[in-house]
Amino acid sequence: MEIPASHPRKASLDLRHRLTEGFAKGFVASAGLIAHGRGEAFDYLLGERTCVHADKAQETASALLLLAENPVLSVNGNVCALCPGEVVSLAKVVSAKVEINLFYRSVERIKLIRDVLLGYGADEVYGVGVGEKTIPGLDSERGRADVAQVEADVVLVMLEDGDRAEALKSMGKKVVAVDLNPLSRTAQMADISIVDNVVRALPNMIEYAKKLKNKPDDELKSLVDGFDNRLNLAEMEKLIRVGSDTV
Ligand code: ATP
Ligand code: MG
Repeated sequence: MEIPASHPRKASLDLRHRLTEGFAKGFVASAGLIAHGRGEAFDYLLGERTCVHADKAQETASALLLLAENPVLSVNGNVCALCPGEVVSLAKVVSAKVEINLFYRSVERIKLIRDVLLGYGADEVYGVGVGEKTIPGLDSERGRADVAQVEADVVLVMLEDGDRAEALKSMGKKVVAVDLNPLSRTAQMADISIVDNVVRALPNMIEYAKKLKNKPDDELKSLVDGFDNRLNLAEMEKLIRVGSDTV
């Protein structure tokens, strides 16, 4: 359904429709619709904009992805519905692999998501089923990961479950999370937690990555070293609780 341009909640409703369309096509899980609702609530409280601290986290995450030897972007059904083209673009700018990882895993959903990503120009999509390894500490289906993520040094997880972030951390990887809830275990576990809507976070990260790509490694390293994730999360939480990041 086309939402009229004059509707005051058009942007938000358009995102809902991307999710419900993805659900109708079979690649968004029913629980993914509920997870989106939780995200919407936080986004509303944050003013549906990229806050200063989220912008800083996005810049730092772009630097970390550029510094990585083997970066991987982990994609689930919601991410595929909301920003498949941006995932592919970011992967190209930072030379990352794209890997599908699903909480509610099924061969059909994986194939549908792979086809969407290939349609947006992904060169190769990992996590499809061949040569899979497991992530220690995660049970059965959720512990499955392709060789890309097992060998990764930096993994970008978006709208992910805390267990996965924790398991990836315990494998010694650096984890960048995009999660609108600064209190979620994912945000708390990650090395860089981007508290912003993924539909705003990824385009901004692509821009930062393009700008930072030609900078010397030392400059990127000092950006990463100068970033304090605890402080950043505390500022984002304050923004939600107090309504200002300047107090
Ligand atoms: P955890 O297990 O980490 O404590 P959770 O159980 O709250 O987290 P899930 O419901 O498994 O997390 O994952 C959804 C997370 O993604 C939520 O924290 C939600 O706020 C966030 N989220 C949903 N939609 C978006 C979006 N469009 N952009 C960014 N974050 C989102
Ligand atoms: Mg969870």
